Amino acid sequence: MSVLFAHEVLDAFEAGEEIPRDGATALLTEGDAEFTERLYATADAERKEAVGDEVSYVINANVNFTNVCYTDCKYCGFWRRPNAPDAYTHDDDVLREKFERARDFGVREICMQGGLNPQISIDRYEEVLRLAREIIPGVHMHAYSPAEVDHIQRKTRLPLEVVLTRLKEAGLGSVPGTAAEILVERVKKLISPGRIPVERWCEIIRTAHAVGIPTTSTVMYGHIESSADLAEHMDILRKMQKDSLKTNGEGRFTEFVPLPFIPYDNKMGEEFGIEEMADLETIYRLHAVARLFFRGTIANIQVAWPKIGIDAAQKALSLGVNDLGGTLIEENISRESGSEYGQSLSPRQFNDAILGAGRTPVQRTTTYDIIREDDPRYRHPRADDEALLGAGFSGGKKTGDFIPETHLGVSNPERTR
Ligand code: SF4
Repeated sequence: MSVLFAHEVLDAFEAGEEIPRDGATALLTEGDAEFTERLYATADAERKEAVGDEVSYVINANVNFTNVCYTDCKYCGFWRRPNAPDAYTHDDDVLREKFERARDFGVREICMQGGLNPQISIDRYEEVLRLAREIIPGVHMHAYSPAEVDHIQRKTRLPLEVVLTRLKEAGLGSVPGTAAEILVERVKKLISPGRIPVERWCEIIRTAHAVGIPTTSTVMYGHIESSADLAEHMDILRKMQKDSLKTNGEGRFTEFVPLPFIPYDNKMGEEFGIEEMADLETIYRLHAVARLFFRGTIANIQVAWPKIGIDAAQKALSLGVNDLGGTLIEENISRESGSEYGQSLSPRQFNDAILGAGRTPVQRTTTYDIIREDDPRYRHPRADDEALLGAGFSGGKKTGDFIPETHLGVSNPERTR
């Protein structure tokens, strides 16, 4: 592919055409400086057209209730065998404490995921949802990745629709679109054999959408995938979203979040000889291409600040990104995982970063209902926020530790989308 073809793809986009899969491959591949400048400017203009100048974030907390898992994913630094000295499965007392802390911080969302613990039944998954909503009335439960839904369904042998409907009735608000890794079976098999295959991930997401449960969408990149693989992944998401939007219901992708693979302290980095995370140029390019590729289908493109730091995330706001994710207030267990950029960010820190980029900060719900400062739901910065955020707070700056990967396709389940 040539720079000429890449320019032609942008010309066609500007004329109103959808970017085809091979067009996305070209945009992801072509590194010419002048072309890159045009790509970023086009993505920024499209962002402005699609969602305006506001940049959103959500006040949320990560809670996970077990690190017991049997899957042994190569990129995971989180899971434990049931008899490991630091294995845990929290009871109601521990969870109550975590939910109360999140409530006191003023969260709108609890992001909750965990290991695939064979001892946990669907009843327990339901109980935990109910407990959270009893302690934090009205909180949005963004919980149970497709890997966990698969685990629950195989354990119960109930139809997928029944499982998801039961979870919805117990308070599940949305499903994280993690565990996708990359939706190319050949690559997925190499990096995570034993994980849910592409078709199963799609089946779970489609069914969630069909029963009215929104989901996010993600991709894990910067490992052994090619630009064509990334284009294929996005093409699958776009097709699924078009189908989901036809029903006009709540079930749909709310956002797309590219998640760079962190190669430190897991088997996958070592096995494939990956020593570094994707460079910023690669990271920025994917966000810009996603903004263009998902025109008219997925309006919100999020940058994962815990992966690249708040300074680099701020720069991404000028090339198509309109969302910075969540405050991700931590719970104590997060400390064991470490994090290159910390695990929590205060509302003030978000506001400063967004204002510094010349944009307008707003808060949002999980499903992108915008909460502006004059809205009673707005969570104003408080003087003690940073103390409340605990050990994981670093203001989005480097702390020098590593981030282990999990089935969420990103880091510790406690702090992902
Ligand atoms: S990534 Fe998830 S499923 Fe895989 S080992 Fe880790 S906790 Fe288990």
